[in-house]
Amino acid sequence: MEQSAKKVIVSLKDIFLRFDGEVILNHINLDIREKEFVTILGPSGCGKTTTLRIIGGFLEPESGDVIFDGERINSLPPNKRNVNTVFQKYSLFPHLNVYDNVAFGLKLKKLPKDEIRRKVKHMLAVVDLKGYEKRPVQKLSGGQQQRVAIARALVCDPKIILLDEPLGALDLQLRKDMQMELKEIQKSTQKTFIYVTHDQEEALTMSDRVVVMNNGVIEQIGTPEEVYNEPVNAFVADFIGEANILNGTMIDDCRIRILGKELECVDKGFGKNAPVDVVIRPEDMMLTTPEQGQLVGVVEKVTFKGVHYEMSVRCGKCELLVHSTSSAKIGETVGMRVVPFNIQIMNKLLPFYDNIIETEVISSSEDENWLEFTLEKETVRAEGHFYPAGTKLRITLPPEALSLAGDGDGDLQDVYIESVVYKGEHNEIILESDERKWLMLSDTDEQVATYVPLNFDFSKAGFEVLEAAASEG
Ligand code: ATP
Repeated sequence: MEQSAKKVIVSLKDIFLRFDGEVILNHINLDIREKEFVTILGPSGCGKTTTLRIIGGFLEPESGDVIFDGERINSLPPNKRNVNTVFQKYSLFPHLNVYDNVAFGLKLKKLPKDEIRRKVKHMLAVVDLKGYEKRPVQKLSGGQQQRVAIARALVCDPKIILLDEPLGALDLQLRKDMQMELKEIQKSTQKTFIYVTHDQEEALTMSDRVVVMNNGVIEQIGTPEEVYNEPVNAFVADFIGEANILNGTMIDDCRIRILGKELECVDKGFGKNAPVDVVIRPEDMMLTTPEQGQLVGVVEKVTFKGVHYEMSVRCGKCELLVHSTSSAKIGETVGMRVVPFNIQIMNKLLPFYDNIIETEVISSSEDENWLEFTLEKETVRAEGHFYPAGTKLRITLPPEALSLAGDGDGDLQDVYIESVVYKGEHNEIILESDERKWLMLSDTDEQVATYVPLNFDFSKAGFEVLEAAASEG
């Protein structure tokens, strides 16, 4: 492929960084090539800006290497790097006109006046602001101000331009226009653009490659088509575009069971009877008569979206999203077919949770049938169970034994919501407390990257004695 032939200009190697003890970047590896438009995409707080700041020289990683043109530059200050940054708040000088804003960096470099004039004029033409030289920047629209900021970053001829949500403040239409313009500017100037956004459509539209981040790690790096059509896990599938993500069982190579039905697919090598996540994009669900359908369901909701109808179809306990140019009626029973190629199989995102507590009873009451133990420095009471103080227990909590305490008082306070993935039936939520991760199921939408109190329903938990209390002998 043409991309891989280009020279790597920036490499992040095993970058690790904590803020206040919290891991923000967890061993990041990323190669960016010359003349590439790379977008770092991910939800709020996942570490995109921090990654960009490390490349820009505004932050130094705790460990790992930042390599620029083959040289390690971890502690090289921003002004010594061949890099320029465009921020969301354009940081233009409000008292200067367009020309002087763009010329600022060149004047600092003490270039001859003629050369400055030539370069500024050329750059204003590139960003389509010819004739605006004398205009005070405060009298420009948001889009025009953004173009001045880009011209100012480009005029000093850096090899790399870093852009941190530069279109975030613009309204939707202007944002779309500017996306096309930015891509054009990148192509015509042949610079490397590293762009940060949480908007997946923006990332897919502009980029040569997309880096999908989540919680301080890179989940996937690929072309827009690769991350959309071949997401490596449920997080990427859910974050990029709309997707039906279902629990499935890989019966054997090229045979999958979902929603109680066996279907043909094209994936191999997952083993026999392996639990997997399955992605089917709404546009790949073809509506048929119930007799012809591989899956059958009842239409619950229909929304006209301009080009297609978006339908929500209930299939047993699951709700499937279907996009189709033909509509069905609410209450109608329909069939759905998917060609094998459009069934995407992924490894489950589950190796990371625990849901098991190994602890010791600190107090208990046989009469009232409860016990208490310490969990991550908090005292937790389990009603309906009795073991004498000193008993060592292993408590296994199935996902359905966990719930969020709406009233603010939970068994564990301040548990972090790491990811929420809708699986047709319910949301699978990964939570993180001080010492472990938890898997919870929920019917309601929860906000990723927030802190919530967590409750346990011990009537659904399994209790196993690891060591009897000493007094029991
Ligand atoms: P957004 O899209 O909201 O800008 P992001 O993915 O760019 O998010 P970062 O700005 O990289 O996220 O922040 C990652 C995490 O690091 C967040 O939890 C943030 O609160 C934290 N963080 C960022 N800068 C600092 C800092 N200087 N001190 C402490 N924590 C910080």
